[in-house]
Amino acid sequence: MAQIRIENVRKDFGSFTAVQSSSFTIEDGEFFMLLGPSGCGKTTTLRMMAGLELPTSGEIYIDGEEVGMKRASERDIAFVFQMFALYPHMNVGKNISYPLVSQGMPKAQVKKKVGEIAEILGITDILNRPVGGLSGGDRQRVALGRAIVRDPKAFFMDEPLGALDAEFREHMAEELRALHDRMNATTVYVTHDQLEAMQMGDKIVVMNHGVVEQFGIPQDIYDWPATKFVAEFIGSPPMNFLNFNGTVEPGAVTVAMSDVSFAVPQQIDGANGALTFGVRPEHIRLDDAAPFKGRVAATEYLGTTQIVSLDTANGTVKARVASSDPVSVGQTTGLHFDARTVTLFDADSGKALKSHANAKVLVNG
Ligand code: ATP
Repeated sequence: MAQIRIENVRKDFGSFTAVQSSSFTIEDGEFFMLLGPSGCGKTTTLRMMAGLELPTSGEIYIDGEEVGMKRASERDIAFVFQMFALYPHMNVGKNISYPLVSQGMPKAQVKKKVGEIAEILGITDILNRPVGGLSGGDRQRVALGRAIVRDPKAFFMDEPLGALDAEFREHMAEELRALHDRMNATTVYVTHDQLEAMQMGDKIVVMNHGVVEQFGIPQDIYDWPATKFVAEFIGSPPMNFLNFNGTVEPGAVTVAMSDVSFAVPQQIDGANGALTFGVRPEHIRLDDAAPFKGRVAATEYLGTTQIVSLDTANGTVKARVASSDPVSVGQTTGLHFDARTVTLFDADSGKALKSHANAKVLVNG
């Protein structure tokens, strides 16, 4: 299969920059997610890797070979689109075999290959059916079959599950991931859904306004967000941000916010001025003895946990605590933050002040 590396790739459409200088590497066999909000440049990045769009500058390498001048058809990549189009006049088997037949593969070999793919996808029993009456899931499987039948170097998928309803989407996501693991193929997958990216991806690139904000394994991106954008985009509810002014020396172990001293992780770069204290809802403990106080404004019951909204001197905070914790609206309580889970940001640049020693996080710029 394939390793794909992009180096300082940029794309301008006239005076508009859709993708700013971006660099990352997709390792052979990885399930790699391009994640970000609508319009951030995910599809453009994918299309440049596929050879469907020419970069304005920068290089793209597939298995170490610079492919800038290679056409899409020479890059040996299979695309699976959201709006997969099947040939309506052909049955399932013919749809899947089409890429092989048009390559001139001998009939017996085509039959064997289609049989193998149908087996992998669990559609052996519908090979002779017309595609017209198929369910959405079976149509998606046939489209996948047609993409994987010719053993391409990599699969590119642009929101392939976007049109499916939630329950079925989850089922297909599991199926896709299992298929990837069985085939060990390099897969690049575009999504705006952070949950999908976290569930399916080996690695994630998070993009915003054409900029790669961070790339790494899902857990590092969740635990050690490189920017406020990533901290907010990933996680539901998102990370809480408490704004304050202060000075942080490199390697500081505490910061002062609203006259309360908070322990922070030790791996910290210095900064002063407008700062943001970031903590995820599930890392907050409600403890009457804690000196930083908040007033409960609302509670949201979610079964085993509840989301508690608290008004504090530095803004509203959402805490995820056990449903069994006795909390009532109007009550004042203390908020305890565990130093190991806190992230400090420069409020103006939005960049994290902390570079955690264990995090395998690569940040652009
Ligand atoms: P979505 O999920 O909405 O497709 P995306 O992250 O995939 O979002 P892109 O499709 O890569 O975003 O588009 C990035 C930006 O580039 C958008 O503002 C889009 O309007 C613009 N863009 C994309 N293709 C072109 C084009 N051919 N000409 C001009 N602008 C374009």
